[in-house]
Amino acid sequence: MRRACVLIALVAVPAFADTVYLRGGGRITGEIIEQTDVHNLFRQPLHPYTQGLIGSVPILRQPVDELSVIPGVVPNLIDLPEGCRFAPRCSARAEYDVRPASEVHPSLRPVSSDHTVRCWLYHSSDETPDWRPPLAGEASGS
Ligand code: SF4
Repeated sequence: MRRACVLIALVAVPAFADTVYLRGGGRITGEIIEQTDVHNLFRQPLHPYTQGLIGSVPILRQPVDELSVIPGVVPNLIDLPEGCRFAPRCSARAEYDVRPASEVHPSLRPVSSDHTVRCWLYHSSDETPDWRPPLAGEASGS
């Protein structure tokens, strides 16, 4: 029997779920931003919010001076961003010059048969998946 969860706390997920539906944008307005199996999620998180969450989880026996932090605050319920709800907090938007992110709300779309993500990094604004950063294990520049 397959199990699924809507992710709120990352730490316990591998113990009780096969498929993870990660929500972003707060508990009330939160929408699914990424869906995949547990192994993919931790091995190859795609959405910048997912990457930030995973980077903020301490790992046993791997001490660090500082855990990573997702900057900013969750969006205001009565003043949601017009485009991607994570745009004001997203460093990848600036790094990759993701232009539609501030104006056009991305839809949840497949990147592979078992991985969907709501992010313009992996889809163009005309809904055609045409560009994405290289995934782990892929050669860059090909
Ligand atoms: S759509 Fe843009 S702002 Fe939103 S998560 Fe993706 S890169 Fe960041």
